[in-house]
Amino acid sequence: MHLTDQEIAKASTMRPIREIAAKLGISEDDLRPYGKYVAKLPLKLIDKSKMEGKKLILVTAITPTAAGEGKTTASIGLTEGLNKIGVKAAVVLREPSLGPVFGMKGGAAGGGYSQVLPMESINLHFTGDFAAIEKAHNLLAALIDNHIHSQKNTLNIDPRKIIWKRVMDMNERVLRDVVIGLGGPAQGVPRESGFDITAASEVMATLCLSNDLMDLKEKMGNIIIGYTYQDEPVRAYQLKAQGAMAALMKHTIMPNLVQTIEGNPAILHGGPFANIAQGTNSIIATKMGLSLADYVVTEAGFASDLGGEKFLDLKCQYGNLKPDAVVIVATIRALKSHAGIPVADLKIPNPKAVIDGLPNLGKHIENIKHFMVVPVVAINKFATDSDEEIQAVFDFCQSLGVKAELSEGWEKGGEGTKELAQAVKEAAESGKSNFTPLYDFNWGIEQKIETIARKIYGAAEVEYSLKAKQQIKLFNKIGLDKLPVCIAKTQYSLSDDPKLINRPSGFTIKIREFDIAAGAGFIIPIAGTIMRMPGLPAKPAAENIDIDADGNITGLF
Ligand code: ADP
Ligand code: MG
Repeated sequence: MHLTDQEIAKASTMRPIREIAAKLGISEDDLRPYGKYVAKLPLKLIDKSKMEGKKLILVTAITPTAAGEGKTTASIGLTEGLNKIGVKAAVVLREPSLGPVFGMKGGAAGGGYSQVLPMESINLHFTGDFAAIEKAHNLLAALIDNHIHSQKNTLNIDPRKIIWKRVMDMNERVLRDVVIGLGGPAQGVPRESGFDITAASEVMATLCLSNDLMDLKEKMGNIIIGYTYQDEPVRAYQLKAQGAMAALMKHTIMPNLVQTIEGNPAILHGGPFANIAQGTNSIIATKMGLSLADYVVTEAGFASDLGGEKFLDLKCQYGNLKPDAVVIVATIRALKSHAGIPVADLKIPNPKAVIDGLPNLGKHIENIKHFMVVPVVAINKFATDSDEEIQAVFDFCQSLGVKAELSEGWEKGGEGTKELAQAVKEAAESGKSNFTPLYDFNWGIEQKIETIARKIYGAAEVEYSLKAKQQIKLFNKIGLDKLPVCIAKTQYSLSDDPKLINRPSGFTIKIREFDIAAGAGFIIPIAGTIMRMPGLPAKPAAENIDIDADGNITGLF
């Protein structure tokens, strides 16, 4: 019988965090400990001169299926493997949201023998970053409604055009749409609003694209909260919100240091979604990793068309980062899913189905090549994979001239990823990557969207609704057209239709409308329906979680 993630985590011996810090050359004086095994790291540890020549490895994946891919697990496993072959590597990841912890089974701290520790604390509250983000977000919301009530709405805000909602770190479908301010004149001005989950907050996206606290403060001041009756945008600084919001972020701006099961450094910071936001940890954490370690392995959410593209176009351009190699995680199960095999039959060996699903992997390889970065395919091995199935993936990658290796970190930790680590090292040091973003921020809105849709999604064309066209006009008028785009669409297809699996072609991407994140610095073209506040499933994972009198928590994955 194999152990659960939590049992494996519990059985691991953690080292005091100062020992992990020492591996990165951080003195005890520079540590901000949160208990024995977690510490925050001050921003002064970011040192541009120390980032020179360091290697940045992005981990992305093929199009996700219900079968699961294992990017976080592969990122942690690869970091263990790199350290095993003598490379000083750190993994830099997002922090988990409480929503999935209590909802569907699945944490964000890796799995099997590739996990970051202390997993319980990381999954439950951690250092309070999400709480601070939630408070900063809701403070701005409170200031908006107070302005309308107590300050006689001198900014002339149209209550029907306020786009700033409130957030909470919980799956709470009943709060998606609410009416606030009921109860008469003393309770404020009634209006429609709603709640998003904290990971979807623009404050989260802003934190992760900021370079330091002053930059974060300025960006939060630029957040557009809504419009006046004359359709002029209203920004957070007009409500004098950014100072107090930034004060709440004093500690949150510092990345969190933890450790992997094998005692290697892991830096966790921020956790924006990969559909409506950039889907990757903070620029600050990535730069800190590059200042302190020789290799940084980092993950972007979903596949190369979502988190991958946003990492490379948005984060890398804003952060002036240049990845040296990209790992594409593929699983035999997911490839078979792309060939249409139902979940119940995925354990049955079926090399033909693997071959039929490979065009999806082929597209993601092509996508990474569009960015002029060397891809390496990591086959995240599951116990049910047959040799013949795995060989089919090796053959396919070889025919494309792309290196592929097994990733067995889930089962074996770093011992199971040494070959992968070697391949990644060779790719990163080959000098063959010459990272080039897909587009320039200065291009027109439509040109940016169409470039991504055609080159990365494989679309034939892009269609805009009347509302979307009107919004483009407005954005051009109010100067938002020079912002990068962060397209929101389903993660289950390269297209905007979740049913079009594998490698669809000839489809049209339909832009329904736009959201904006003027503080974080992007606009969000929305293709399809996008969920900003999940609900709990019929059997929430929370029902299995418990704690005893000695403080032992059970049932976390
Ligand atoms: P992602 O980051 O792509 O969302 P994760 O790394 O979080 O995926 O993995 C999703 C789930 O799949 C986790 O519960 C993890 O333990 C499990 N998993 C990952 N790789 C394997 C594997 N090789 N064998 C069995 N389970 C795995
Ligand atoms: Mg993940």
